[in-house]
Amino acid sequence: MPQERVVTITTIILVCWVIFIIAWERIAPYRKGLAFFREGFWTDLVWYTLIQSYFLKILIFDYIIQPFQTHFDWSSIQFVKHWPIAVQVVFFLVTHDLYIYLFHRWQHSSKLLWRIHEAHHSGKEIDFLSGSRSHVLEIIINQTIEFAPIILLGADPVVVPIKAMLDAMFGMFIHANIKVKLGSLKYLINSPELHIWHHANYKEVFHANFSTKFAIWDYALGTVYEPGHSPGDLPENWGLGYNFPTDYFLQHAFSLVRFEEKKLLKYKWFKHYYGLKPAISKLLTNLWRRSNPKTKS
Ligand SMILES: [Zn+2]
Ligand SMILES: [Zn+2]
Repeated sequence: MPQERVVTITTIILVCWVIFIIAWERIAPYRKGLAFFREGFWTDLVWYTLIQSYFLKILIFDYIIQPFQTHFDWSSIQFVKHWPIAVQVVFFLVTHDLYIYLFHRWQHSSKLLWRIHEAHHSGKEIDFLSGSRSHVLEIIINQTIEFAPIILLGADPVVVPIKAMLDAMFGMFIHANIKVKLGSLKYLINSPELHIWHHANYKEVFHANFSTKFAIWDYALGTVYEPGHSPGDLPENWGLGYNFPTDYFLQHAFSLVRFEEKKLLKYKWFKHYYGLKPAISKLLTNLWRRSNPKTKS
């Protein structure tokens, strides 16, 4: 099947998955009363999910992987080339998931690597969109290591969109605000039950639940933190134990230099920049009201 057609199919599946997960969050919420437009929603959607993903896809595929592909001869190591597509997908799914477990674990124990991972932990309200919040450098490292082998080892071109779709689906699932019990499948498949605790601000979970797709790594390597099943056994503290900027660019600047976001308001240029977002949203709301005069405010 041509890659374009697979891209269309995977996009349709992804859209259905988003609708399904949003509905699931409303029907069986893990934390009741979590607003759909929660704190940081627009930053995660506009900056991380749409703009950052769009530019990083071009950078990673066209400017990092492509030169590697064209400047070296990879034909002698393309051992996956004649495998069935399903086997290729499973192979890259499992090997990359083990890598991501190990790298994620390292990020929690290295002060330097934590700087490019803390953004992912900064949200105080976790839902299906929270997984998108990742530092630029974290994505560049992880996605290059993810997709370069698929291309360089000679996998079928359709493996890329299939793998990208599964990443997005799992990313949404493990962060979703849903109450889910997987039974004995929990030893294999990761779920919000484990990963949402990874986003809680407690010492005992800071070095636990590193898995992304397969929970088996946490169980096998002794890093699982399983919550009890008493009704009150929900985390109460979320996100980071220190102030983290709310603005996309400042979230990245914070990984280089520490500062208090609000204190920057004493600078005129920053006040103008900071006032832009509410001004744009006010302008859009007014335009919307003018074009829909019957809409209640
Ligand atoms: Zn983490
Ligand atoms: Zn996460």
